[in-house]
Amino acid sequence: MSVIDGKILLKNNPCFKSNQHMTPKGIVVHSTGADNPYIKRYVQPDDGVIGKNLYGNDWNNPSTEVCVHGFIGKDKLGNVRFYQTLPFDICCWGVGGGANGSYNYDPPYIQFEMCEDSLNDKAYCMNVYNKAVEVCAYLCKRYGFSPDNIVSHREAYEKGYGSGHVDPHNWWDRFGLTMYGFRNAVRAKLSGEKVKTKRDCRLYSRPYKDPVGGTVSYIAAKKGAVVRLAGDDGYGWSKVLCGGKTYYVMNNNLCKKGLSKCPKVRLTRDISAYEPMKKRLGKKHTIKKGKKAAVICTILSGKYEGYSYIKRNGKYYYARIN
Ligand SMILES: [Zn+2]
Repeated sequence: MSVIDGKILLKNNPCFKSNQHMTPKGIVVHSTGADNPYIKRYVQPDDGVIGKNLYGNDWNNPSTEVCVHGFIGKDKLGNVRFYQTLPFDICCWGVGGGANGSYNYDPPYIQFEMCEDSLNDKAYCMNVYNKAVEVCAYLCKRYGFSPDNIVSHREAYEKGYGSGHVDPHNWWDRFGLTMYGFRNAVRAKLSGEKVKTKRDCRLYSRPYKDPVGGTVSYIAAKKGAVVRLAGDDGYGWSKVLCGGKTYYVMNNNLCKKGLSKCPKVRLTRDISAYEPMKKRLGKKHTIKKGKKAAVICTILSGKYEGYSYIKRNGKYYYARIN
């Protein structure tokens, strides 16, 4: 299956018409800055998958003075897809210009938008992020540039090659996602790089552990076991391949620098934190507002779905932190 789910070229956009040829040297990642996760908001005509924009404010329009090579967002049914909207070998009008030039032209970068929603839906944000990793890995491979040449719009601005925007950090910051982790995830996707385990550890069937609820199975890996990296989730865990199967492992068990760490959060209210016991929650403690805790994972199924497994002062707890 291709990472490009659909192609609707914005032929009425003046950028498409200007048709300035380029050889892509990198990628600028944007997010739209508006609460509308649907591709149809920006891309038309409807191909039957994305749906129809009833308001005529899409970018396939002679009066639209911006354009990018693609969009990641929802189709009409809510599935996250990548739609290509310009040929990858013509310059887009995405990032604007800065003190040193513009990634629209010199050097020319492929650019895509990620359609923001209200910025509160972590699952949607992660789906878009993971799709963006796939798209970038595909483009790096196809055009032969390094993941080092992937920047956000904000980074383009900071380097003097774009206008003063902060996307997509305004969105990703909320869920602990970084460009650093993103480039690493692209790198891992490209290479399937082999890494060794740093100690005896567990490879889980899902990207979390649930020692109380027991919804996750695991295999034991010995120190020095070789696994293939298939993506860093940006929260301290990586997807790995081992013996032809997919597992998840905490990054601190891997001999590799630059992987993401479990986020530390400062509590915005007092929380109840329970000691993990076998098959049930143990003694209850209160951790006060303003204290910090490391979030090892959030449990995504079973009786303790929605709880986070946290570590504070060397002790582990189950708690609802948001
Ligand atoms: Zn932007």
